[in-house]
Order: sequence, then C-alpha cells, then structure tokens
Amino acid sequence: MDKPDTGWIERETRRAHSDLPEIWTLLDSVCDPEIPVLSLFDLGVLHDIRQLGGCIKVSITPTYSGCPALETMRDDILKTLSQAGFEDAQVEVCLSPVWSSNWMSPEGRRKLKDYGIAPPMKHCRAGDTPDAGIGCPFCGSHNTARLSEFGATACKAMFTCADCKETFDFFKNI
Ligand SMILES: [Zn+2]
Repeated sequence: MDKPDTGWIERETRRAHSDLPEIWTLLDSVCDPEIPVLSLFDLGVLHDIRQLGGCIKVSITPTYSGCPALETMRDDILKTLSQAGFEDAQVEVCLSPVWSSNWMSPEGRRKLKDYGIAPPMKHCRAGDTPDAGIGCPFCGSHNTARLSEFGATACKAMFTCADCKETFDFFKNI
C-alpha cells in the first residue's frame, strides 16, 4: 500500500506549472557533488525557479544545514546558467522547511540504487535507521545488518549484506 509521496508530488507539480521549463531542464545537468548520478532535482534539493525582473532566482534546500557540498552546488548552478546565457542569476538557500528524503524523485531512488546506495525507505519516520533489513542494492536481499550509524557522509549509514557479502551505504530517512 503506497502512501502518496507528497513532498515529491509538490515538486513535480511546481515544475510542471513553471513558466521556465527550459531552466528546469537546463539544471537537470547539475548533479549532487557527492552522488554524481543524481541531479539536484532528483535529490529534491532544487526547490523552485522563479524570474524576478530579469533575474533568475533558484532556490535550493541542502540535504542538511551543514552540508559541505552547498557551495559547490551554488557554483555549479550559477556556472550552468551563465554558460547558457543567463548571467543575471541568484541562488537562495531555503532552510525551512528542512529537506526531507521524501522529496527525492522516484527516478532518483532508482538511480541511487543502481549506484550502489540503498535509497531511503518510503514508510519510515525521519531519524529512524533500522538495525537490519534494508534491501541490498547489489543482490536485493533483506538479510542485511547495520555496521555503523555513519557511512561515507553523515546522511548515510553503513550496512552489510549476509548473502552477497557486500557492504553498502543506506541513505537515511531524514
Ligand atoms: Zn547483497
């Protein structure tokens, strides 16, 4: 029974009704510096794009407020816009509401798994990282156990699979 994923639907709707579809498409080429297979849109970091006067305003919400990748994201967005001729652009950082793993697109979840990172679960409270049972992105087994609360970055936890013996990161529910 899949609950509608409202955070994601809100973003998809905002994009579908935007007056600036070409800018959304353009920014699909900007990827998360830590997970280069995910665009900022797929990750749910790209919040909104508006035009005020001649200025393109892009709002982003980092996955957590101390995210070290924030400056890189900002620079990548401005560089991409400027190369396409949009010199007058600003990036605003919205910290409220805080980023949620529910904002990740279905495509983003698939890409994350293909990249070897278990995507956040759909029906789990934020902050809950289970001790076991996260689906292994390599073999699909749920015979897995948590090795560490922190993986490669603070937003991931490290798991090991008892069947294929791989270790993998789980993108935590935030
Ligand atoms: Zn496995």
